[in-house]
Amino acid sequence: MPDHRSDQAGLQPEPAPARAARPLRVSVDLNRCQAYAQCCYAAPDHFVLHGREALYYDPAPDAAARLEIERARIACPVQAIHVEDAGSHGR
Ligand code: SF4
Repeated sequence: MPDHRSDQAGLQPEPAPARAARPLRVSVDLNRCQAYAQCCYAAPDHFVLHGREALYYDPAPDAAARLEIERARIACPVQAIHVEDAGSHGR
């Protein structure tokens, strides 16, 4: 009797990469942003406010920054920061 176990094992999906290893895509709704600067305190390496007009941010931070970026997203009082995995199609 043939043994099909090795064939079945070949059909197994590869394990999904760890969530923390995926690069991020960050966007800020600048129409919503009120320059409260909470993101700058939460993730100073990724969000910088110049005056009260211009928010500079890293749109493609390394996955290692996920915790800081999520902290900034949560800290924003007007929910202007959106974070998703690079390559995803958004929500
Ligand atoms: S915390 Fe939100 S409102 Fe404040 S500067 Fe950052 S994105 Fe803008």
